[in-house]
Amino acid sequence: MKKIIVAIDGFSSCGKSTMAKQLAHEVGYIYVDTGAMYRAVSLYCMRNGWMDAENMDVDCIESNIGTVHLEFKLNDQGKAEIYLNGENVEKEIRTLEVSNGASRVSTLGAVRRELVRQQQIMGVEKGIVMDGRDIGTVVFPEAELKVFLTASAEIRAKRRMDELRGKGEKVSYEEVLANVKERDDRDQNRKESPLKKADDAIVIDNSELSIVEQQEILRSLFDQKIK
Ligand code: C5P
Repeated sequence: MKKIIVAIDGFSSCGKSTMAKQLAHEVGYIYVDTGAMYRAVSLYCMRNGWMDAENMDVDCIESNIGTVHLEFKLNDQGKAEIYLNGENVEKEIRTLEVSNGASRVSTLGAVRRELVRQQQIMGVEKGIVMDGRDIGTVVFPEAELKVFLTASAEIRAKRRMDELRGKGEKVSYEEVLANVKERDDRDQNRKESPLKKADDAIVIDNSELSIVEQQEILRSLFDQKIK
């Protein structure tokens, strides 16, 4: 059967990965979470002292980005986890601090160029569902199916807070909402590949949709494309 590329872009915490992962599982495609790649770079920069909560050493990060090797491997439950230079960092990259760093390192041109290069290699054989901010616009402008997922900032903050609290992080709603808005602003207004809907992307606003409903919409779009 014909294999395609599915690009799912949208704001942070609107459920892109849940949607992308489920579709990939149903149709036997590879799932790639590009946000995890920017998060891993953020963690790498923090560990090396090139970035903290306030500052980042742009020259140092840009000249060392070639030393970052990222890959995804399946765990025992068949879930893809990210490896940074051979180390599984799936858990470490999910904190608020690393999220914030990711949204900052992702503004750097050299970082974007290197990660886009790695992402394009992952999609060479198609049969891939990739989620991020620039998949339909920059990484795979030729993707057969492009979805732009959105939901209100308040709903996304609530979902993100529940997720973080579920992992034991002590965060307030206000703090998470401010973080969501700050990242939206940075994603949409950065110079390098800002978050924007590709002209041929289909918009799904999932503020009022259940996971099952959004999944059905995505699956039916996919089925139409591979017909
Ligand atoms: O999707 P997630 O929240 O895990 O992404 C972390 C950060 O990485 C985002 O805030 C965004 O700034 C950045 N990102 C990006 N381009 C992508 C994926 C993520 O700039 N393709």
